[in-house]
Amino acid sequence: MTLAPERPAAADPAVEVFDSLDPATGEVLATYPVQSAEEVEAAVARARVALQWWQAQGYEGRRTHLRAWKGAIARRIQELAELVHRENGKPRPDALLEIALAVDHIEWAAKKAPKVLGPRRVASGMMAANQASSVEYQALGVVGVIGPWNYPVFTPMGSLAYALAAGNAVVFKPSEFTPAIGLWLERAWQMSVPAEGREVLQVVTGLGATGAALCRAGVDKIAFTGSAATGKKVMAACAETLVPVLMECGGKDAMIVDDDADVAAAADAALWGGMSNAGQTCIGIERVYATDKVYDAFVTELTTRAAAVRPGSDATASYGPITMPSQVGIIQRHIDDAVARGGRALTGGTVDGLFVAPTVLVDVPEDSAAVQEETFGPTITVARVRDADEAVERTNATSYGLAGAVFTGDSKRGVGIARRIRSGMTSVNSVIAFASVPGLPFGGVGDSGFGRIHGEDGLKEFTRAKAITRQRFALPVQLLSFTRTPELTDKVAKVVGMVHGRG
Ligand code: NAD
Repeated sequence: MTLAPERPAAADPAVEVFDSLDPATGEVLATYPVQSAEEVEAAVARARVALQWWQAQGYEGRRTHLRAWKGAIARRIQELAELVHRENGKPRPDALLEIALAVDHIEWAAKKAPKVLGPRRVASGMMAANQASSVEYQALGVVGVIGPWNYPVFTPMGSLAYALAAGNAVVFKPSEFTPAIGLWLERAWQMSVPAEGREVLQVVTGLGATGAALCRAGVDKIAFTGSAATGKKVMAACAETLVPVLMECGGKDAMIVDDDADVAAAADAALWGGMSNAGQTCIGIERVYATDKVYDAFVTELTTRAAAVRPGSDATASYGPITMPSQVGIIQRHIDDAVARGGRALTGGTVDGLFVAPTVLVDVPEDSAAVQEETFGPTITVARVRDADEAVERTNATSYGLAGAVFTGDSKRGVGIARRIRSGMTSVNSVIAFASVPGLPFGGVGDSGFGRIHGEDGLKEFTRAKAITRQRFALPVQLLSFTRTPELTDKVAKVVGMVHGRG
């Protein structure tokens, strides 16, 4: 049995449709409807009905169903990887790894939700000593998830699994470049739950307008992953009805290579972090700052290794085509601008259709597009810096702040450097490691967005804190009553002075 999507393109010529393409060949893989605002609203309304069933399952029941979903994905991992390879263009092994990580997140979210979100006692303090206090984290209701195409399973899963585990229903609008993958996940869900739960997770297909319709369809939160430019439009649409938003946007992540770093390991990691998935990784390495002491050795090591990396769509290619054709122009512009302003491409710099050669750029001015803007291609700029302090300063000098890496011989000092980087995540002596730790929050600052997926923060992101006090016994005198006397509040003032006023 295959979970290949069965949403036929509308036969009715009045229904707008769009094609999903194989980026390597341009071949049309399938055609999908552009769902209208009315259809999106109807999906949200169905989700709200299914939500009753989902919430009645409690944490235990939800865990069982989420595990069934996880199992359905894991058992068909090769099938899904093939679909990711075809629709997104990345090599199958990369697709397999992405799915494996996503599956791990489903397990973590389902397992941890009761402990992280369930009722917890809170000390009531001096002023409310007669109260028993507790806090719990309740589901928001129906969450709209708008996803990108670059990690079409792993990235949305950071919202889907965590929102579902927290007790929400979800309507998911996958990128128009990867609709089949979204529909595959929906079908895997449908076969993992009883009929009443099928609409707890639904997919709507379409272009940007369908995403905008989801923002206005009565959802209780939007979890958006995509570019900062689109993120601003999503926020504007959500502002109309005060729908809260989670923003997972782009990045311009840097690696710092310090004096005593293992240069070979750093170059290997920079190459993977910068070029894998054709550089289309939000947390990919786009810039390197290497200290004067290691710069020459690092650049030699990086360019030598880059020569062995090759784009293509065959089984041995290191990475695939650029998934979104319009991005090729941006990558080309960044390379051309860097070279026109005195930069040099030590390797690569060439574009063949949708395949971009691995490109290492040096001597690029810091205010150029290749250093300041998200390139989202297999290019890395390398700059020489005096020391780690200057590296941190330059790392922090962009509007983005998603992730990054530090390579150093002293990993404790590396953690100190990591703390000074203005970003949501940093790995010391590795790249992207934080994304594979389900317990760690994932998200950025500045133009990289706000809010967190993954970990305890990721579960709480899809809830509202509910505070409850239960009066254990009535006090002989009431502070919160018109019957209180001025003498009573004077006494309170005296006690406060004694307790808090010392020193
Ligand atoms: P994009 O912004 O073009 O599109 C993202 C999604 O938004 C798509 O589903 C699209 O249809 C939808 N959309 C477009 N216009 C909309 C509108 N007006 N209202 C609502 N939805 C709308 O981004 P993309 O090209 O799909 O993805 C690449 C970007 O995503 C890069 O910037 C990358 O860094 C970022 N990204 C970030 C993370 C993260 O976790 N921070 C993860 C993956 C990708």
